[in-house]
Amino acid sequence: MAPGLDAIFSPRSVAVIGASRRRDSIGFALLHNLVMEQFEGAIYPVNPSAPSIHSLKAYPSIAAIPDPVDLAVVAVPRDAVRGVVEQCLAKGVGGLVVVTAGFSETGPEGAALERELRDLVHEAGVRMIGPNCMGVLNTDPEVRLNATFAPTPAHAGSIGFVSQSGALGVAILNAAQDLGVGLTQFASMGNKADVDGNDLLEFWEDDERTNVVCMYLESFGNPRRFTEIAKRVGRKKPILVVKSGRTAEGARAATSHTGAIAGADVTVSAFLEQCGVVRANTISELFDIAKALSRCPLPAGDRVGILTNAGGPAIMATDSCINLGLSLADLSAATRAELARFLPAEASLANPVDMIASAMPADYARALDLVLSDAAVDMAMVINVTPLLATPIDVMEAVTRTAGRHSKPVLAVVMATEDFYEEMKSRPAHPPIYRFPEPAARALAQLERYAAWRRRPADEAAPDYPVDDGAVRRVLDAAPEGYLSDADAFRILRHYGIPRVAGRAVATREQALAAAEEIGYPVVAKAIGAELVHKSDVGAVKLDLRTPADLRAALSQIDAALAAKGVSATGYLVQELARGGHEVIFGMSTDPRFGPLLMFGLGGKYVEVFRDVRFGVTPLAPGEARDMIRGLRGFALLEGVRGEPGADLARLEETLLRIAQLVTRHPRILELDVNPFLAAPEGVESKALDVRIRVGPPEA
Ligand code: ADP
Ligand code: MG
Repeated sequence: MAPGLDAIFSPRSVAVIGASRRRDSIGFALLHNLVMEQFEGAIYPVNPSAPSIHSLKAYPSIAAIPDPVDLAVVAVPRDAVRGVVEQCLAKGVGGLVVVTAGFSETGPEGAALERELRDLVHEAGVRMIGPNCMGVLNTDPEVRLNATFAPTPAHAGSIGFVSQSGALGVAILNAAQDLGVGLTQFASMGNKADVDGNDLLEFWEDDERTNVVCMYLESFGNPRRFTEIAKRVGRKKPILVVKSGRTAEGARAATSHTGAIAGADVTVSAFLEQCGVVRANTISELFDIAKALSRCPLPAGDRVGILTNAGGPAIMATDSCINLGLSLADLSAATRAELARFLPAEASLANPVDMIASAMPADYARALDLVLSDAAVDMAMVINVTPLLATPIDVMEAVTRTAGRHSKPVLAVVMATEDFYEEMKSRPAHPPIYRFPEPAARALAQLERYAAWRRRPADEAAPDYPVDDGAVRRVLDAAPEGYLSDADAFRILRHYGIPRVAGRAVATREQALAAAEEIGYPVVAKAIGAELVHKSDVGAVKLDLRTPADLRAALSQIDAALAAKGVSATGYLVQELARGGHEVIFGMSTDPRFGPLLMFGLGGKYVEVFRDVRFGVTPLAPGEARDMIRGLRGFALLEGVRGEPGADLARLEETLLRIAQLVTRHPRILELDVNPFLAAPEGVESKALDVRIRVGPPEA
């Protein structure tokens, strides 16, 4: 557990410094919430000019409070904050929440003041939340702390929530209240001068009441530390993140395929995914998923059983599940025979099981029991459109009882009138309820994604291939900033044990002809040079040249094409003609905050048309490389379809991992595209046909 946060979340006494008698002030709202939520400890308003506030005796300063104070909530004007914090530390408080704004969010002067506060609390070894935050709350019945100025109380539940934005914090508490979702603790972090999201993750790691951690983030303080903590905490309980700021985080040269396809947001998504963090796009989606994660066991696979009393919603549910990468379970013959024993003849017994409109609560119970007992089912979605002869409340009761006897996730989609949802909020634990099939399908998909991550071995390290780093360093040290020559780029692949097509870079036509003799016809000829970024676009690639005459003609055509476009070349590249296999791309671009972003995709030169790519960040473990490759929409192509042989997947995985090792060890490499890489079947050599590497300025 993060040290020192107990005094903030579970204090025995709270002082509100800057408490006010003015009803419309933050200083009043803080006190009001503490009182109205019936804080279990003592409350001390501090205000030099009011003898009492909110029926409580007030003190002129924190020093004047005769008893010890665990938590000080500070809401005085900005320029008084520093002095107040000093007094609090002198008093010996255990923790601080500074609500006052006007610090680093306003400019350099505020930032300097904020640093002073941070230094003060660091020196004293006391933790501080804020400044510029909305406060904290803890629903533990033994604490009942609401030290926020939000107008909405919180339900007790099992979700820990931290928000980087105070304003959004109010919206989050409102949404939680609306959806009947309960929280354990809530904190608005404000400017994170001391306590940040990582500290809160560690706080919730071992908190028994909290089984899901939700975060609204605008930035990652320290991505490396977040990775380490999130990967560890995620093994114990799911972490759900809404990350805003989906815009470019830094300037990005888009000359590489990877850079062109990957927006900054892609890096964040890849990074979160590798950490096992579930990402939601909106707050409401976050709660949809959080409901499922907090109330359901994890599924063992991706096969969904759907049970319904109406056809339309079940079709929508099926479509959503399939689109999200889930599959529909094949119910066994035995299950279908059992269903046939009590369902009407018009019912549909294959998945989705449609019991038709006459289904009563008892039918739901019996059918759901059979569906969940079927070994082909990993999770269930139960759909109910308010029946004529029963209430959805009774249906939910039957579903709740049945789901409780199984250890598979069950989600309910109930299409009912408003009073049903209101009523369910006040009822004890039941499967999460959704109004429509799509959000339920999304929640199931995220449940399975998280479960799949949990099934992967923990702490799998990035491999360490024996390579020639010294030789790579010599190539890089001799290179100026910008693109490496083709010869150097291929050299680096060789030093890293990445298979390449046979080829020679030459300066003249005569040398090209000699190289072709050495390599053996048929060959490929390309013009090379610093200006030639996309060679085939300017007619600088000629394939399948079978004789010296072919080659001579091709070189003339290349020269003419370049002359016509006013592009100059420094020489030619003669290569063996590679045949067979599928063209894939390995790419890498650099994100200013997260470091290397790796890409793998289908299509070779058509990659930007297909955009069937997956991303990953370093360090990359073998299981993560495997997921990047298997996660492609068109992965079946690499497995081999219609009698075509599949690609050597182990070779692809190893190549990806070797590239990850290369760019991790040699940070001067800013961009890399191996495009195409010819993915051949096992037993045939796969190889790089084209590679481009861009390096940054020489290291100091
Ligand atoms: P660029 O990407 O600069 O246009 P490439 O060297 O990638 O140039 O060549 C363009 C295309 O030509 C490749 O996508 C591939 O289809 C084909 N090609 C290139 N080199 C070879 C080779 N040695 N053998 C077979 N086909 C090749
Ligand atoms: Mg290419």
